[in-house]
Amino acid sequence: MSETAPQSGNRTVHRTCTLCEACCGLDIDVDGAKIVSVRPDHDDVRSHGFVCPKGIAISAIHDDPDRLRQPMRRMPGGTFEPIGWDEALDLAAERLRGIRAEHGANAVALYTGNPVIHNHGALLVRAGLTAALGTKNSYSAGSQDTSPRFATSNLLYGSSFALPIPDVDRTDYLLCLGANPLISNGSVLTAPNMKKRLRAIRERGGKLVIVDPRQTETARVADEHVPIRPGGDAAFLLAMVGVLIERGRLPHSTLAEVTRGWADVERRIGALGREDLSRSCDVPVATIERLALEFADAPTAAAYSRIGICNNRYGTLATYATDLLNLAAGRLGKVGGAMFTTPAIDTAAFLVRAKQDGYARWRSRVRDLPETLGDLPSACLAEEMETPGPGQIRALVTFAGNPVLTTPNGRRLGDAISKLDFMVAIDLYVNETTRHADLILPPAWTLTEPHIDLFFGAMSARNIARWSPPVVPIGPDEKHDWEIMLALSERLGGGPTGIRPLDRALSAAKNIGQGFDPTHTADLLLRTGPYGDWFLPWSKGLSVKKLKDAPHGIDLGPLEEGVSRRVFHRDKLVHVDAPPLLEALDAFAGEVRTAAPDDQLLLIGRRELRTCNSWMHNVEALVSGRDRCILYVHPEDAERAGIFDGGVARMESRVHAGEVKIRVTDELMPGVVSLPHGWGHAAAAPWQRVAGSHPGISINDWTDDQEVESVVGQSILNGVAVRLGPCAEIAVASHA
Ligand code: SF4
Repeated sequence: MSETAPQSGNRTVHRTCTLCEACCGLDIDVDGAKIVSVRPDHDDVRSHGFVCPKGIAISAIHDDPDRLRQPMRRMPGGTFEPIGWDEALDLAAERLRGIRAEHGANAVALYTGNPVIHNHGALLVRAGLTAALGTKNSYSAGSQDTSPRFATSNLLYGSSFALPIPDVDRTDYLLCLGANPLISNGSVLTAPNMKKRLRAIRERGGKLVIVDPRQTETARVADEHVPIRPGGDAAFLLAMVGVLIERGRLPHSTLAEVTRGWADVERRIGALGREDLSRSCDVPVATIERLALEFADAPTAAAYSRIGICNNRYGTLATYATDLLNLAAGRLGKVGGAMFTTPAIDTAAFLVRAKQDGYARWRSRVRDLPETLGDLPSACLAEEMETPGPGQIRALVTFAGNPVLTTPNGRRLGDAISKLDFMVAIDLYVNETTRHADLILPPAWTLTEPHIDLFFGAMSARNIARWSPPVVPIGPDEKHDWEIMLALSERLGGGPTGIRPLDRALSAAKNIGQGFDPTHTADLLLRTGPYGDWFLPWSKGLSVKKLKDAPHGIDLGPLEEGVSRRVFHRDKLVHVDAPPLLEALDAFAGEVRTAAPDDQLLLIGRRELRTCNSWMHNVEALVSGRDRCILYVHPEDAERAGIFDGGVARMESRVHAGEVKIRVTDELMPGVVSLPHGWGHAAAAPWQRVAGSHPGISINDWTDDQEVESVVGQSILNGVAVRLGPCAEIAVASHA
């Protein structure tokens, strides 16, 4: 049984916040099972006392009366009633086994939401559950935000988790695209207190450049904001590389030493017309040339791109182009550039060794889209449920996910899910997706279990290791998420990891009284990792025991120089000529030459400090105050559409038409409108009373599941064509 918190007594628990990628340290004062207060941990080696409002509100989720605490079964009429654990697990397994036996393993799909990456227990058994289901229909939040980054890393470096991280604390020039780190606090960049870190760049004489269609909160504190057309990032970055090629600024000997196929890439990029690229991204040629030379001339520089470029039309190409720019300017693997971490638990190496990493090893049935890191694009989910034939999805298992709100054309997906033969959700809440589940198996809240990071070591601005103990005791009739997943796996004939020899060994160990414990597995990975003690009694290396003696974490130092040390290809070279990337480049070259300018409005998303995707809107402190779910429109577009500030307009896309509240603002470039994501809680109002009283609308009612990025099938959530008009003027469209 995994470690639990004491049932009684006052104590302060030092704990990593697992709500977002920043991984800040919290001091949580507890009296028995009651959280008394939450404060920043000033001694945390990563965050040094920084927290955001979400971290402080973590106790509100603990206390939320709407959070489920026992398994629920959906009754006729759509209400839920409690059911016992054994009965629920047996029923779930029986229904899934039956559907699998009748229709094949791919008839059962798995969808995993973003919180899994903050949970070492669930992460460790997720592959086991997928293997036990035996399905290729595995989906996750990754294809809404990060699949282009994972696939690019897999193709270039041989591991999806070989991730170039901007060395923000030592760089003199940060070029930032599609990211708003003042609000996100870093994404694929674990670096709390980005405000302070970005200010420090400027204080040491450096420069911060934000490239974004909106003058974001980060753009407002930057030295320069470059407005860019949504989807134009690939053109912009390739044009910058083209400038360096043309001006003879490439470090040719380094490129020959660390890459494979650079000459081929250079020839292709050199052939792209700069005027075409400039027109495609709406950034003047002179600005592109100036920024390229500034980037090359700065003492140190890093290009960093994130979600805003991942989930647009050229997400993979733009991610590839980001790495090409860092290479072309000699910035990859250099201090102050884009560097690789040395994680205490080396998930990249583990996944490569276990053959769990890859790209395009199988494809979706209906649209032939590739998997990335084991998951198919979520934009396929509805069609895979609706299209008859062998492999049609008839049952769904979700873990901590709400795809009806977070995937494109969410209304269509909601309809498709409601018609499935069976659905089981492992989730804390009845939400817009789980309301369709036949069974909901709620895990104990994450603060009841210990925490060690398996994921963010690959993307941290400094190398850090930290262990967090459980904060509050688990209830007598509660189960951790990994226990629920494992119980399901075992009932389906599988084991914890999905790796057969390992599962057999773990099963044998269970027979002699040592069941699977994720913390033991994490300890094994830590002790055999880059800083591990390798079980040598005299070693000063890391183990969980050693981390427990350092309650605020251990700082393992700044990122280390070098590229080949984090390249997992056998030849240790960066494969810049990987065929899928070159094909994407060639296809883009044809499109950019022939593209005609259009006058459509393009819808982009928006992130806000107090919200975390779709799932923290039942916390009053995070949703009270001004209405956040408002469409931002440039004054010229508002005038053209005949709509006004503070009013309501009708917005129409190919899949949906509906009403939106309007704010007219020049923080957007003309031709772009912006709505935050994660809202649209009206359907969950009976079960989430706070969220239901601040429902907002879902941007993914308008996004289109039939339009995906071409390399990995990433959902296009930025740059969606819409029309705006007064409420009466636009006809209602179907969402089919
Ligand atoms: S930024 Fe906020 S939500 Fe994210 S880890 Fe820090 S305290 Fe938690």
